[in-house]
Amino acid sequence: MSKREDIKQRLQTGLVIGDGAMGTQIQQVAPKLLCPEELLFSQPEAVEQIHRNYVEAGAELITTNTFGGSGHKLKLAGMSEHSAVEVNRIAAQIARKAAGDDALVLGDIGPLGELLEPLGEITEADAFNFFKDQASGLVEGGADIIIIETCIDLNEMRVTAEAVKSVCDLTLIVSMTFDKVVDGYRNMMGNAPQQAAQLALDAGADIVGCNCGVDISGHTDIVKMLREVATDGPLMCQPNAGLPELIGGKMVYKQTPESMAKQATQLLDAGATIIGGCCGTTPEYIRLLCEALNASAK
Ligand SMILES: [Zn+2]
Repeated sequence: MSKREDIKQRLQTGLVIGDGAMGTQIQQVAPKLLCPEELLFSQPEAVEQIHRNYVEAGAELITTNTFGGSGHKLKLAGMSEHSAVEVNRIAAQIARKAAGDDALVLGDIGPLGELLEPLGEITEADAFNFFKDQASGLVEGGADIIIIETCIDLNEMRVTAEAVKSVCDLTLIVSMTFDKVVDGYRNMMGNAPQQAAQLALDAGADIVGCNCGVDISGHTDIVKMLREVATDGPLMCQPNAGLPELIGGKMVYKQTPESMAKQATQLLDAGATIIGGCCGTTPEYIRLLCEALNASAK
């Protein structure tokens, strides 16, 4: 069996290691871009190298550099000379090349960054088309799985899932972001993890999960809540490297790779099966995470 087939099978039954942050890695290579997606054109080999660094660190899923790859966000960033289909196709091709047989490619879709009508100005039909183009490009470029991540608005999540489903039948992961509030955890629109998980499953998600937002102990709580709804099968969790601190006008994530790896075994115990990192994590975090989780899962 090929490594890729093995990961696909294990995704249903056991532990799979995700990758870490893309944005912070890109900032080190090219600090002055219009948006991270610009690097796909200015230095595609640098994007490929970041993916390879994650694969070498033990990541079995690598995420395309398309978090802001909707036509809406590309236009706002000043990248409208490239169509969203083209940007996403190229990003998926680069990730596919770096992954080879050693990892699966997650075609990444992030939020539009603005609310849909009636709370905001983007119509549902426009949002659908933005996400449809993005998903089409990711599929054309060879993504193995589609991930809708950092969801904070379930209405936008539902539209995104519908758009993805309209162009492909790839496995769909919906990963949501919650903050800690007085009486538990809520997304930006006030939904609890259990309610959000149910709506994601109803919208067609094959796998639900959580990323960003809170620290690992918060994610441990959220994973347990998601498990109340997504009771069996895979469940994803990708925390940041701790809570951010504002230093010199920049968000800095200061949890060490060693500390994060040690704490991450809690996520496994809580029921997460696909574990990687979000903001502030690097290949070194993933390398230690992979070692600690594999030792703990045995
Ligand atoms: Zn994050």
